Amino acid sequence: MSLSEFSIIEEFFTSKSNAGLCPIVGIGDDCAVLDVPADKQLAVSTDTLVEGVHFLPKSDPELLGHKVLAVNLSDLAAMGATPAWASLAITLPSIDKAWLSLFSKGFFSLAKRHSLQLIGGDTTRGPLSITVNIMGLLPKHQRLTRAGAQLGDGIYVSGFIGNAGLGLKNARAGGFDARDKDLLSYLKPNPKITLGQALLNVASSCIDISDGLSADLNHILKASGVGATVWHEELPLTHSVRQNIEEVGDVLWPYSTGDDYELCFTMPDAAYKGIQEKLAPYQISKIGVIERQKGLRIKMATGEVATLNKGYDHFNVE
Ligand SMILES: [Mg+2]
Repeated sequence: MSLSEFSIIEEFFTSKSNAGLCPIVGIGDDCAVLDVPADKQLAVSTDTLVEGVHFLPKSDPELLGHKVLAVNLSDLAAMGATPAWASLAITLPSIDKAWLSLFSKGFFSLAKRHSLQLIGGDTTRGPLSITVNIMGLLPKHQRLTRAGAQLGDGIYVSGFIGNAGLGLKNARAGGFDARDKDLLSYLKPNPKITLGQALLNVASSCIDISDGLSADLNHILKASGVGATVWHEELPLTHSVRQNIEEVGDVLWPYSTGDDYELCFTMPDAAYKGIQEKLAPYQISKIGVIERQKGLRIKMATGEVATLNKGYDHFNVE
């Protein structure tokens, strides 16, 4: 049986997320209609994932449903926003009910956890790609942005760095192993929504780590018109990532791998002390400091300094 676009949306994507802020008009009409509460403002972001570019061919559809929403939620987390609504556009080579059912399961399981409502959808035929347009709410006049890092601010990251990159490397090398925690970091990222909310009004800047720590921290530095030194010894690395660094013989490897979806943020030391208790549930590491001199410097315990202004650059010895 062939399914029309409408019946796909009906069957797989209607009313599966009941928690959260209901739209005035949701899926099934020409547009969704939303009412933004008077004391709130809307944060909006779009991300597209293309098979073979952003995820491996023949990826598990349930994990893919999770990931496509997780990467969008991570952008809301970086702004300190609370998830509210999303629309979803899927381009599929053919209608595969089993695939759609699993994809929808992964998507809605994460949506429910964050009280997110799906308010619109579109399906077309073509090479597999998925686009999510996500909307979150922020209190009026409050937001985290990339601009705002000040001289002397500490640079912090949540969680661990490089595990998703290692997971992708493992997946490319040897297929799927459900016990591989690094692979799970890559396939099933956990967007840091509550951490972003806790940082509102406290952090001077914030970004989610999607393209790699050096690329994303450089976005903060450029937007804020400052530079930074990161102390390599303070970088939160798991045993597996340290082992991989040994194997590839490149100490800068974890700075260039993406998909961690942790938050990188800045704030003065006094502000950090003020919310330390609130941040206790999270693994937070102070990894460096904002400086006047432009560019990103990675300082090794040996005193060597690498500059990472555009991803990989070169080693300088101070
Ligand atoms: Mg982002």
